[in-house]
Amino acid sequence: MNQHAIDPKTLKPRSLKLKMALWYTFILLMICIVFMSVILSIYRSAERKTAISTLEKIVDDTALNSSKTDTLINGTSDYSAFIADDVQLMIYDENGEHVAGFFYPELNSLPLTSDTVPARTELGGNSYYYINRLVKDSTNAYYIRGIIAAENDLTEMIKSHREILATIPVLLVMALTGGYFLTRSFLKPVRNMRRTADEIRRSSDLSRRIRTNGRGDELDELAKVINAMFDKLENDFEAQKQFTSNVSHELRTPVSVILAQCEYGFDKADDPEELLQIIASIQEQGYKMSGLINTMLMFTRIEQGTEKYPKSENDLTETVHSLCEDMRIIDGKNITITEDLEDVTANVNKEMFSLMTGNLIQNAVKYGKENGHVNVTLKSSGDYAVLKVSDDGIGIPEEDLPHIWERFYRSDKSRSTKGTGLGLALVKEIAEYHGGFAEAESTEGKGSCFTVKIRK
Ligand code: ADP
Repeated sequence: MNQHAIDPKTLKPRSLKLKMALWYTFILLMICIVFMSVILSIYRSAERKTAISTLEKIVDDTALNSSKTDTLINGTSDYSAFIADDVQLMIYDENGEHVAGFFYPELNSLPLTSDTVPARTELGGNSYYYINRLVKDSTNAYYIRGIIAAENDLTEMIKSHREILATIPVLLVMALTGGYFLTRSFLKPVRNMRRTADEIRRSSDLSRRIRTNGRGDELDELAKVINAMFDKLENDFEAQKQFTSNVSHELRTPVSVILAQCEYGFDKADDPEELLQIIASIQEQGYKMSGLINTMLMFTRIEQGTEKYPKSENDLTETVHSLCEDMRIIDGKNITITEDLEDVTANVNKEMFSLMTGNLIQNAVKYGKENGHVNVTLKSSGDYAVLKVSDDGIGIPEEDLPHIWERFYRSDKSRSTKGTGLGLALVKEIAEYHGGFAEAESTEGKGSCFTVKIRK
């Protein structure tokens, strides 16, 4: 088994849903606790304020109502007179002796000052607020003391509201279940992605795509990006397959010719004249194959970025001029090649630059008309060296123009002309290797103009 193959077990969904639901529940629980604490403390503070203001009101009202104070001081046996709105009243004389009303021995030791603000005290394990008011009748002074139960402390309050505590586990179960199903539905697109990726892995069918929900949310965007990545991968794989098949096809012809020539050669072994022709033909096919293999190697090296093509400062003018001269010698169509060359030097790989320029000039001649014209110009423009090769040849059909830079692409009309369809692809690759680009303009039947810009 392939060492790098994906173990299907690793594709099993870990329970992200459960994890998210647990986190969600935990956060919810924290929010509940904080919220409840705030509510309880607000509630306590409100209770406290109410108790204090009731206490003050009842004690003050009693102190100001002289007939009522008289009744209380003179001792009524009706205890309901000493209680109002949960405030219990008791009367002390100036010496602190209990005279009437509720009696709590623990309260006797408390100071009998006429406080303006209620004070807090413990009584029988509970908390109370109390306040004293001084009243005078015609002969004596008395203190009216009122007490009211203080608000419960937090634990007491929680204890007294056990039902709230009882709802917490129910809330938690509801939050956990709700959270689980919510996360499950949120993560559905992720499940789709995983399933599609897994299907692609199993079937090696790169044409499958993840279904997008069109909502434009983050997961939808992610699905679109992954689909775009699949598009690219599919195109690249297709191009790779096409490339391999094209290379095999291009190599098959010379190999067949070589084998056929060899067989024929064995039959004609006694005729030296014919044998020489056979060897020449074999050599021609050998050159073809070697050219093809070298071009392929160059593509690979450029793509892999291996520094096999170092750049240095070179005189481009000299190189272009010498290529034009060479072409004049081999041209068999009586084509006039004119040059318009500025002095330009640039940091290039000389071998590559020659190959690129040579390909363009060769094409201009190859696809040029008998007695036609080819013009080569070289100039400097800003950071770039600009090379233009124009001809008045057969031109390129509009529908072919976007494809001429593809490897092995040959315009149908030029099938009669020899070629592999790799020249322009190499021109483009070399231009890009030098930080530039290549472009073409052409009118069918009128001619073409190829421009290459490379960084100086
Ligand atoms: P090849 O010349 O080996 O076919 P190229 O990659 O150099 O491959 O060119 C690709 C195609 O572009 C050619 O088949 C031809 O149709 C077209 N082409 C290139 N240069 C010219 C030109 N100067 N004039 C017309 N057509 C051209």
